Amino acid sequence: MPSKIALVNMPFGFHVYPSIQLGTLSTLLKTHGHQVKSFYLNLHFAHQIDLEVYNKLCEERFLIGEWLFSHILFGESKGNKEYADHFKSHLQSISQKINRPESFLHDVKTQMVPEFLHWAVDTINWGEYGVVGFTSTFNQNIASVTLAKLIKEKYPAIKIMFGGSNFDSEMGLEYFRVFEWIDYVVSGEAEHVLPGLMEAVESGDPIPKGVIHRVNGDLCFEENLENFTDFKKYGPPDYDDYIETIREIDPQSPLLDNPIILYETARGCWWGEKHHCTFCGLNASTMEFRARSLEQVHADLADLSKRYNSYRFRLVDNILEMKYIDGVFGEFAKNNYDLQFFIEVKSNLTKAQIKNLAHGGVNVIQPGIESFSMNQLQEMDKGVRPLQNIFCLKWALYYGMEVTWSILTGFPQETDADYRQQIDLIQSLTHLQPPMAVGDIWLERFSPYFTRPDQYGIRITGPGAAYPYVYDGDTMDLMKVSYDFEFETDLKIDPALVEELHQTVAHWKERHQSKSLPYLMFTKSMNFVTVYDERSAKQPLKLRLEGAAGKAFAFCNEAPRNLDQIQAHLKEQGETVERAELEGIIKDLEDQRLMVGERGKYLNLALPHNSHL
Ligand code: SF4
Repeated sequence: MPSKIALVNMPFGFHVYPSIQLGTLSTLLKTHGHQVKSFYLNLHFAHQIDLEVYNKLCEERFLIGEWLFSHILFGESKGNKEYADHFKSHLQSISQKINRPESFLHDVKTQMVPEFLHWAVDTINWGEYGVVGFTSTFNQNIASVTLAKLIKEKYPAIKIMFGGSNFDSEMGLEYFRVFEWIDYVVSGEAEHVLPGLMEAVESGDPIPKGVIHRVNGDLCFEENLENFTDFKKYGPPDYDDYIETIREIDPQSPLLDNPIILYETARGCWWGEKHHCTFCGLNASTMEFRARSLEQVHADLADLSKRYNSYRFRLVDNILEMKYIDGVFGEFAKNNYDLQFFIEVKSNLTKAQIKNLAHGGVNVIQPGIESFSMNQLQEMDKGVRPLQNIFCLKWALYYGMEVTWSILTGFPQETDADYRQQIDLIQSLTHLQPPMAVGDIWLERFSPYFTRPDQYGIRITGPGAAYPYVYDGDTMDLMKVSYDFEFETDLKIDPALVEELHQTVAHWKERHQSKSLPYLMFTKSMNFVTVYDERSAKQPLKLRLEGAAGKAFAFCNEAPRNLDQIQAHLKEQGETVERAELEGIIKDLEDQRLMVGERGKYLNLALPHNSHL
């Protein structure tokens, strides 16, 4: 009789949607005949401390979620005691955001969390299960390992398993060494490993590759180098226990109405396979891109939509498989489905592709727009140009898609010119959706900046700033468990420019939060174009572009065009202009910030008023 397995999702995993990890593992294990129950303890804790407060804490930096759960394991260590002083301004800022006094955070750490953990151990009959498995991603680590310890103390016979991105590679090895109550760590993908591990646990057979374990007290690990590709072997993720838990806690919960469903169409990154973006720490050792068939994506989404009575999906892929644009979203568009999707995609999309995505239900995209500086984009090996980023923002706005993006700074080779150029360019773009933030890159484990720092002039100086104040550096090697790192470079940017960029973006965001949204649009007639420009907060401008200028402007609407293309188009339209004259027209449009040029191609920045494009 196979063991019953408990899977656990701890704070601070987001409570607003289920865990893709638990859903995927639940399906995997059930397919192999195991009885599985998923415990969404994050939902219980979120309700305990207030849903809004919980949600905000999930998004905060400096390992605040880890620190709040660290009292039982590390509360007596020197660094842990100093967190509140060292990150005083951070705690003050959080307390303002959650509208609670700072003492609330201390109460959460020292009273509410220990009570919650003891409640979790005592209320659930863990003794029913042969195995308790935790997936640990982002700020779920200390909550997970602490509960695991308490369970092991009460039920020594239970096997404790860990997996998830916090346990990848060296991090998993070090956590396993330190947290002796963990019996097995699945480091990397589970599909090839977990079914064999379950058999080995039940039969006493040798532990398969890909599992960190102990033999006679010694740590053993042989890496599994085989990436999983056989997606058709397993059905869609199983979120029954997530829905059931919400029903138990709050039958009236709005989370039950059209719940957000997570789905994985692909793993790895097809761009990163060839050009690993220099700052990107995603995918650890599994960059190889693997995607589900179109048929499976259609079938799984239909199944999930029906099973959970939902129209809302969030694809967890790092990057969209391009064949889905027509094959999935194009088909959804033809059928006029009312589904909604969040996706991550590369920004170098055509207008037709953006239209297909939007009409197929994509209402939020994260296109990896991180800069408008060619130099920075080349340095990050992003494979897109500033004009493509602008084009994506323009047509996403036209088709009503929200764009999630941020401006990244702090690249080791960046220059003052990168800042100046972006500050100037932003004056032309204020009608487009602003970034969420401007911020320095993190130096992430697994990124090229981490694996080859010398090549980029980087000196890694220590673990991420919060690690010594959360974990105990005396008992564990923080360089081995840290996901982000402190670093130095020799390059210095003028602080005034940094400040100016921040101010410029803050102003951009303010305008979009105000009642009078900035806009730049145009209407087109046979022989002229009218441009309506209210990007600056001053008086709106209304411009009439006659003849060749109007036609050139309209021609550069749906794709960036070069001078040859524009000249040929004008000729077809009966406007014969010499090259010098055309160059003058284009320069004039650039000077008025109506067009932007890059490497000899020009894009009209205005949105068409016409709604049939
Ligand atoms: S940043 Fe995005 S595109 Fe670049 S390697 Fe990472 S996942 Fe791929």
